[in-house]
Amino acid sequence: MAVGARLLMAVFGSALASAGAQSASRPNIIYIMSDDHAAHAISAYGSRVNQTPNIDRLAREGALLTNVFATNSICTPCRAAILTGQYSHVNGVTMFNRFDSNRLTVARLLQQGGYYTGIIGKWHLGSDPQGFDTWNILPGQGSYWNPIFYSAASETTYTGRYTTDVITDLGIAFIRNRPRNKPFFLMLHHKAPHRNWQPDSAHAAHFHDRWIPEPETFWDDYQTRTDALHENEQRISRNITNSDLKLEPPPGLTPAERSAWLNTSPDSVVVEHDGKPVTLKGDELTRWKYQRYMQDYLATVQSVDDNIGRLLAYLDSAGLARNTIVIYTSDQGFFLGDHGLFDKRFMYEESLRMPFLVRWPGRIKPGIKIDAMALNVDFAPTFLDAAGLPPNAQMQGRSLLPVLRGRAPTDWRTAMYYRYYHDPGHHNTRQHYGIRTMTHKLIYFGRKISGSCTTCGTIP
Ligand code: CA
Repeated sequence: MAVGARLLMAVFGSALASAGAQSASRPNIIYIMSDDHAAHAISAYGSRVNQTPNIDRLAREGALLTNVFATNSICTPCRAAILTGQYSHVNGVTMFNRFDSNRLTVARLLQQGGYYTGIIGKWHLGSDPQGFDTWNILPGQGSYWNPIFYSAASETTYTGRYTTDVITDLGIAFIRNRPRNKPFFLMLHHKAPHRNWQPDSAHAAHFHDRWIPEPETFWDDYQTRTDALHENEQRISRNITNSDLKLEPPPGLTPAERSAWLNTSPDSVVVEHDGKPVTLKGDELTRWKYQRYMQDYLATVQSVDDNIGRLLAYLDSAGLARNTIVIYTSDQGFFLGDHGLFDKRFMYEESLRMPFLVRWPGRIKPGIKIDAMALNVDFAPTFLDAAGLPPNAQMQGRSLLPVLRGRAPTDWRTAMYYRYYHDPGHHNTRQHYGIRTMTHKLIYFGRKISGSCTTCGTIP
């Protein structure tokens, strides 16, 4: 090609991008995010507890990032950080406060830049979505079965249906019904595998006959640990509840008594062993609680994995795989018995680290593993960059595209800032902040804030 022709194309390309004009070559973006799916429950990340062949397909055909971190490991703040590209103290969502949808979001910028935009599934930001041509969201946490979905115009109940399946159905319908003259941006947000881990019928017994390995730190005795860990209430041994364990309340309880019973952690459980009743207590009971917790958690993950397979198959059959970026991630990590815990919040690795896999045929080398440090505030700038739109100065993250192409800029970050604010809050987790480099981490736990949690009406 002559130099003159190359120059002409470069100028033409830049004019397209700056005007935000429609371009058939601009990629579609499907951002799939589950809720509380730890990287160490994905086989591509070396899981010892399950197999996720469909999520693994994204690793084979795209990039797997090993050091992607949440900046405030809790559902609602993570969602706000991802939408805005800003840390919690800038976007205003430090805990479970309502997100002001009038704020800058990547969805609005993509919409203004010529994309057809949609969000389906868990929103959990209190306000109605803005910047989306289509939205179909669960109220609050939503439910695993018989879900209600709200759109701008209607409310629909899917009786007899499992939410993970419905979210995928609605996602495929969004793609099928999209206007053909625009690229699309779809945020597909699964509820699973969030507490209280209700599997679908096909997977309910999938792990029942398996012994799930306990993590190396399962019996951490906290001898050298911070007071914040001792006082915390997300221990499998003493905080996982009868409801979490799917135990049936005794008969004859009043509704209030029944609710209190379900929210209590049992100190003994009778199980059947070789046809005889056996009472479990102490460490034996803790082991049993871990198995029950993980059986259901992992079963809900299998449904997510199946549904990702279904979506990828649809993209193949519709001829969309080539020009569509597909991302799989979770809003944060999760403790799977690590340090004897469930849930998230702490700046410890299992909670801090997010899975992140991305496929972009022809642009990202298949099977590449990337160790550069990335943050949830980088996602929005990345989407803008992939769409050929200019960066937004209000966003605090950086586009990951150079990193995804295997060429991290020389000034790429080597440290990240974290802050957890929800104190007093669920699980009695103490406020803390910290810094993590590629090799070290320093966490400062503030004094426990007294008082009662005012935003703890629902399970986060
Ligand atoms: Ca979450």
